[in-house]
Amino acid sequence: MLDRFGRIINYLRLSVTEKCQLNCGYCRSGEACKCGDELTAEQLIQISRVCVSLGISKIRLTGGEPLMRGDIIDIAEEIGKLEELKELTMTTNGQKLDLCASELYKAGIKRINISLDSLDSERYKSMTGGNIERVLSGIEAAKKTGMNPVKINVVLLKGINDGEMENFLRFSKECGLICRFIELMPLGKFSENPELRITMNDILKQHPELKSTGRVLGAEREFRFENSTTAGIIAPMSEPFCASCNRIRILSDGTLRPCLGCDLEIPLGGFLGGADEILAAEIEKGVQDKPMRYTMRDCEKPFRDMSRIGG
Ligand code: SAM
Repeated sequence: MLDRFGRIINYLRLSVTEKCQLNCGYCRSGEACKCGDELTAEQLIQISRVCVSLGISKIRLTGGEPLMRGDIIDIAEEIGKLEELKELTMTTNGQKLDLCASELYKAGIKRINISLDSLDSERYKSMTGGNIERVLSGIEAAKKTGMNPVKINVVLLKGINDGEMENFLRFSKECGLICRFIELMPLGKFSENPELRITMNDILKQHPELKSTGRVLGAEREFRFENSTTAGIIAPMSEPFCASCNRIRILSDGTLRPCLGCDLEIPLGGFLGGADEILAAEIEKGVQDKPMRYTMRDCEKPFRDMSRIGG
C-alpha cells in the first residue's frame, strides 16, 4: 500500500492481547486492562490475510504480551501459512518463551525480539515485576531453535539502568545477540518524566566505541562494537523516522492505529467476519489517513498505554 505521502506501507504490528504479566513503568500507567474486547483467532487471521493481500509483507505479533494467549501457536501457524508474507516475527517479554520457542519456530517465527531492561535480577524485578531467569531461559530456547537474529530490546532510563550498556554489549557479544537501545517515548507511567530519557546522543557520548555502520534497519540505526558485534539504537524522540515509516498497528480490540504517536484510530470490528474486500477497503482508507508525523509530546500522553497500543 502507498499512503498519501508516497510511503510504502508493508509492515503490520498486530497486537493479539492487552494482557501482560509484567508492569513496566514506561509501558503501562496502571490503567485497568480491557481484556474482554480481544479479537478471536479467526478475526486476527482474517486481518492478517487481508493486510497481506494489500501488500503487507511483514507481521509482528505483539501486545500486551503475545504469549499470554493460549492459542498463540495456532494463530502464528495460520498467519505463517500466508504465501505472500515474507516475515512473521514477535516481540515478547520472554517470561514464557522457553515453553514454546520451538513451536513458535515451527509455526514460522524465525526471528524474535525479547525485552530485557536489566541484566541485574533485582533491578529487572523492580523495573518490570518479572523474573530474569525466565527471560534468560527464553533467550536460550529461542537461540536453540535457530531463530536468527534474536534481538534484545532495552529501554534505557537515566539513573536506573543506563549504567548497564557496557554489560549489555558484552552480553550480546558473548551470546550472539543484538541489543537495541530504545529511547523512552512519552507513554505509560513515565509519560511525564522526560528527564528519564537517554537519547541516542547521550549513548554515543558515553560510548564513543560504538561506530555507525551507516545502515538503518527500519527504526533501528546500526552500530558496530569491537569489530564483531552490532547493536542498534532506536531514537523515535531525538531522530524520528516518520518520513520513512512503513508501519501500521492493529490493536487487540480490532482498532487500526495508522501511527503509534497519534490518537487517530479506526475501529475495524464491524467489518470483521464479513467480506475480505470490505475490510480491505476500510484498512486502505485508514492508511490514507496516516499522518506525516507523529504528534506525541512529552507530558501529553496519548490516551492509550503502549501495552494497549501494541509496542
Ligand atoms: N510484552 C512484549 C514485550 O515486553 O516485549 C511486547 C509488547 S511491549 C509494549 C513491546 C516493546 O515496546 C518492548 O520492547 C518495550 O520495551 C517497548 N516499549 C514499551 N513502552 C515504551 C516506551 N514508553 N518507550 C519506548 N519503548 C517502549
